[in-house]
Amino acid sequence: MVDEFLHEPRVAYFSMEIALRSDMPTYAGGLGVLAGDTLRSAADLSLPLVAVTLVSRAGYFRQHLDAEGRQTENPAPWDPAICARALDAKVAIRIEERAVWVGAWLYVVESHLGGRAPVILLDTDLPENASADRQITHYLYGGDDRYRLMQEMVLGIGGVRVLQALGFEISAYHMNEGHAALLGVELLRRYTYPSSELQSGESPYDVPRVRQLCRFTTHTPVEAGHDRFSYELAQRLFGGTQGHADATLIDIGELQKLAGRECLNMTRLALSLSDFVNGVAKRHAEVSARMYPGYQVRAITNGVHPYTWTAPSFRRLFDRYAAGWCHEPELLSRTDSIRDAEILDAHTQAKAALIQRVRELTGIELSPSAAILGLARRMTAYKRPELLFADLERLRTLALERPFQIVLAGKAHPRDDEGKQLIVRLYREARALKGQIPVAYLPDYDLSLAQLLVAGCDLWLNTPLPPFEASGTSGMKAAFNGVPSLSVLDGWWVEGCIEGVTGWSIEDASTLYEKLGGTILPLFHAADRSGWVRTMKGSISKNAAFFNSHRMMRRYATEAYLR
Ligand SMILES: *Cc1c(COP(=O)(O)O)cnc(C)c1O
Repeated sequence: MVDEFLHEPRVAYFSMEIALRSDMPTYAGGLGVLAGDTLRSAADLSLPLVAVTLVSRAGYFRQHLDAEGRQTENPAPWDPAICARALDAKVAIRIEERAVWVGAWLYVVESHLGGRAPVILLDTDLPENASADRQITHYLYGGDDRYRLMQEMVLGIGGVRVLQALGFEISAYHMNEGHAALLGVELLRRYTYPSSELQSGESPYDVPRVRQLCRFTTHTPVEAGHDRFSYELAQRLFGGTQGHADATLIDIGELQKLAGRECLNMTRLALSLSDFVNGVAKRHAEVSARMYPGYQVRAITNGVHPYTWTAPSFRRLFDRYAAGWCHEPELLSRTDSIRDAEILDAHTQAKAALIQRVRELTGIELSPSAAILGLARRMTAYKRPELLFADLERLRTLALERPFQIVLAGKAHPRDDEGKQLIVRLYREARALKGQIPVAYLPDYDLSLAQLLVAGCDLWLNTPLPPFEASGTSGMKAAFNGVPSLSVLDGWWVEGCIEGVTGWSIEDASTLYEKLGGTILPLFHAADRSGWVRTMKGSISKNAAFFNSHRMMRRYATEAYLR
């Protein structure tokens, strides 16, 4: 079944989550959506990649919000058989001295341009396994440290072995975030020096050889985003006791040299085992280099998948004015000549689709003529979604002068109580503004809702606390639909913002209100719409043309993969 993918060497792209389709809940948020866009671009460009991830049969979760905005999580189980094919390869890995069998499914990302990219979904839900082990690949980001480390063993160790069992020839391994770092441990096991050649005290592992094979992308400057495990736990799961190197997955003493003395730090392990390391925006690479002195951290700024994130009305427009844009989004740099009326018409269609969905989901009726501010993210403290509501009086005054409306969405991680409180707070602000500013909170944010929201609003708002936004991608998605951003200068926006041309920058709540009331809403509501359309076009020709995953993948291919 994988034969069509075996005729050439491939880059193995390992990611704990990948957003492949809306009805496959195998992703939690930004990291997964980026991984999905990575594969969609690889398929469009016919790049030889093979992705490895967990099947996450129980899904992430379906978000339920009560009248106060209190989030509860409903299971989101899915059946891989609906769109993937079971492969007969099966490998065993040892966890806590027992064999855990790892099976695999094949999902193929099909580009409408003809290319295909294989994704291997790892699955421990096999009759050979004890019932607890059958659940290792069920819950994305669920469970305790032990559960997570078992998942990372299945992903890293199991993934490398499954690729080998299937007959893939791998030219390089790309760790998408530290979750995948144990793939390096499996490669260390593969590339060891014969003990007869070793002096006592010398490492048996051929670290330089493994480094030549590995690339690592780090995705967050937030400390909690970097996995750390105790060596006591690692020792227990990896098996064997100190001094009995044969029985263990890897000698813990050698591991400590690579992953840190105090704890098994997956970011450090990935850094030590990769000869190409990058952050996901220029600012983020600088911040990461400061977090991990001694490592060279390059920058490959993220991008989003052109076709996926462009609304149907804009796809048709781009087909006429920039034929070939799906393969070569740089062509969008030539869209400034599109007639204003056509841009406005394409946007009106995207806005109508959003307004309809908001009505279906919340019963709230938005106006097609008033500006819609969109803001959706994983709800967590550093993203500061509440900043817009810092001064409700000010907000009301602005809306009296020129009306606007607000659409919000986003899930909080089940264990992020602060994030959940934020949603409750946003509901409270929405109630306080009732009758004055329509505010809709859309439940269960996912790929398809994101597609409607980034295209249908008039202005994309992003207010993270610097320097914690590694990149951010939603504003890039908006740009493909002629929607400018109003954003804090962090992540990609440091590179993407040309003031007044692609959008606007803000520092805090007070500059937010100043720009909204003094510049943006007057421009939006001007009788002559040409000024507003100019920023719409600026976001397409300057930002969509550049901040796309085709450019990103061409850079990974030339700078990281072909080293
Ligand atoms: C794009 C996207 C995200 C990530 O948004 P950021 O702006 O990168 O934080 C999260 N969830 C969904 C459903 C998305 O489409």
